[in-house]
Amino acid sequence: MVKSFDIGLERLTGTGVAGPGIGPHVSEGAGLETGALVCASIEEKNRTQKTAGCGTHESEGETFYLETFGCQMNDHDSEKVAGVLLARGYRQVESPEAAKVILYNTCSIREKAAQKVFSRLGELRPAEEKLTANSRQSLAEARTEESFRKIDHGLQPEWKAAQPRVPGPQEPKHPSQRKIVNAGGGKIIGVLGCVAQQEGEGIFERAPWVSLVCGSASYRKLPQLIAELEAGNRRVTGLDTDTDETFETEITRRDNPFRAYLTIIEGCDKACSYCVVPFTRGPERSRASTSILEEVRQLAKAGYSEVQLLGQTVNSYADPSARKMRFSELLAAVAEVRGIRRVRFTTSHPRDFGKDIVEAIETHPTICDHVHLPVQSGSSAVLQAMARTYTREEYLEKIALMKAARRPISITTDMIVGFPGEAEKDFEETLSLLDEVQYDSVFAFKYSPRPNTPSLKMADAIPEEEKGRRLAILMDRQREIQRMRNERTVGETFEVLVDGKSRRENQWSGHTSSNRVVNFTSPEQELLGDYVQVKVSSAMPNSLVGEMIGRA
Ligand code: SF4
Repeated sequence: MVKSFDIGLERLTGTGVAGPGIGPHVSEGAGLETGALVCASIEEKNRTQKTAGCGTHESEGETFYLETFGCQMNDHDSEKVAGVLLARGYRQVESPEAAKVILYNTCSIREKAAQKVFSRLGELRPAEEKLTANSRQSLAEARTEESFRKIDHGLQPEWKAAQPRVPGPQEPKHPSQRKIVNAGGGKIIGVLGCVAQQEGEGIFERAPWVSLVCGSASYRKLPQLIAELEAGNRRVTGLDTDTDETFETEITRRDNPFRAYLTIIEGCDKACSYCVVPFTRGPERSRASTSILEEVRQLAKAGYSEVQLLGQTVNSYADPSARKMRFSELLAAVAEVRGIRRVRFTTSHPRDFGKDIVEAIETHPTICDHVHLPVQSGSSAVLQAMARTYTREEYLEKIALMKAARRPISITTDMIVGFPGEAEKDFEETLSLLDEVQYDSVFAFKYSPRPNTPSLKMADAIPEEEKGRRLAILMDRQREIQRMRNERTVGETFEVLVDGKSRRENQWSGHTSSNRVVNFTSPEQELLGDYVQVKVSSAMPNSLVGEMIGRA
């Protein structure tokens, strides 16, 4: 699967001072070439899928290309989409040229991300469409000349007067009349995810060669939609958001061999004034705890020792089953599944973050000591304009819960600069929050106005240049905080799950429980997937460097 952006669930794409292994990293020069051997090649994925509940699957036949934009939720959705297609006998390929079915799983959280999808679709415009577009322009020019000539002679333009008209071979038809699918090389082109939900059937107007438009809330319909396309249907859509179901597939093709993702809650009811997610992913729907726990048990049997529970607001989880587990109880139950050594969760909303979650982390060493708690701004006035439902002081109370925990908890966040009306003093409050909380990583973004959001109409927009200035200041301040925090770990020993091997001899990388990236040396021949003890010898703002001193 090709991945174009790496932004978190609440992250509006931008520049981040990424610390513990999430999102875009600030380059540190001499880092390891991590990841070189982490992910199986597409051919390997086709041959052997590590699936929950279906074992090994051999897939041949038609081909598909799947490109994913956006957050971990999208990554995981793409794993499910790939699972559905592989189960239907499709084989994944590495380029759109080689594929029969081309799918883009899209992100619309920021304008740039959405534009990129239409740029990709433009590259797929069939030759006949290009011809039609050129013809349309020539025809328009010819009509203009003709109409001028005839008006000069006091006559109606011929192309307007003739009724009814039969379109000539060179004339553009209405998009709905065009024969698109299986034209231009016989490809089926689909748009999935947030842009699909946001633009809906308008995508057919903008890119008439697209034949599938499906939002994430309708993914359960994908097998049926694909079957309809295979049967020769020209256009199919899945755009419902009023469903109680979450997208559960029996077959999920998992791309990360070390960390298994599970969506436990879909959609969002929070309605932040800048966010498209409630519109594109619909209202909150939680998956039954019994079903989640069953999948975790299957994942453990399949060899996974680390799972990450996902949701736009994962801690707003509301168990629809009779057990009515709270989120903290679910965390504890997942942590107790035999074979599971690490449980992560993202993204938490401050409003629903309580002491019970901190207690679950304290009680279960298996629950990772890392919480991503997006704040977005350090100013209560801006938070109110954003409709974030908490003040700076209330947010800091949640931070205090974590700082008082019996074991250290790594805290990371998201921030937006340049929200409409953000005065210099508001921005100063955001900077002072950095100093006060001492985050291990911050994903900072320039505000980007999005369609269908209340903030679109807000006054006092901040100029792009000023947004850029604020972002640079914030990143510099945070980079310094991370450098100091990481330097304090020199001499400490961490348990590291090894998930990368460099091409350089004896060099490996992995993640700590707090999600810090650790690059380390070891003469061992095979460590991928193992837990090892690494002593830190030096530190940079985004990663630690050390030496393996034993197995964990
Ligand atoms: S509406 Fe707010 S809480 Fe919900 S996904 Fe968007 S930013 Fe997160």
